[in-house]
Amino acid sequence: MILSAQSINKSYTEAGDGSQAIQVLKDFSLEIQEGESLAIMGPSGCGKSTLVSILSGLDQPDRGQVKIAEQDLYQLSANALTDFRAQNIGVIFQQFHLLPHLKAIDNVRLPLDLQGDDRAEEKAREALRSVGLAERAEHFPHQMSRGECQRTAIARVLVMEPKIVFADEPTGSLDRRTADEVMEILFQRLKEKNIALVLVTHDEQVAQLCERRLSL
Ligand code: ADP
Ligand code: MG
Repeated sequence: MILSAQSINKSYTEAGDGSQAIQVLKDFSLEIQEGESLAIMGPSGCGKSTLVSILSGLDQPDRGQVKIAEQDLYQLSANALTDFRAQNIGVIFQQFHLLPHLKAIDNVRLPLDLQGDDRAEEKAREALRSVGLAERAEHFPHQMSRGECQRTAIARVLVMEPKIVFADEPTGSLDRRTADEVMEILFQRLKEKNIALVLVTHDEQVAQLCERRLSL
């Protein structure tokens, strides 16, 4: 098992009134095997992004436990969690979250540079090549299409060789054809490396690419 989440609870306090809390996740549990792909669907506001944040170590639940590769994420110190996330967990967002002032190659090598990897350049070039962007290494995000930006973000995840990837509506800002191209690349690369995927999507066609589907 690569991920095990047990009895996750999360509430938010409503703005302006500290006494009112809305419960977004109630006793949510989930297990994911190595290399498995899971689609999570559900209406806007039902808590999909909240869940992804908690499962990927970005936001602590009020109660419950998240283990990735047997490690209980929220038992780690802040620094240890940052390191653990870098080594094991990749996240892909709808809006790519590339750094606008860095070229594609520099966006992709950044997580390696932060780890002091002396093969950052070489690995980043290979990752860009693996998503079909060898020719785009020297381009800035604003010089690339949305599909190319998302492929760059995928390369930035692949370069770290994570054990699990979370993607929160990764095709939400792409047209049909680009969405299909980008998802084909993502699924191929993850399959080759036996990396698990948790994919939040509104797109039935994209959800069908996953081995398992879940409605929140
Ligand atoms: P989804 O991704 O399924 O659209 P979210 O996880 O973003 O849903 O949000 C779930 C609910 O939690 C929504 O009602 C949203 O308004 C609320 N929410 C999300 N983040 C916060 C926050 N930081 N503070 C207060 N409420 C929040
Ligand atoms: Mg969301």
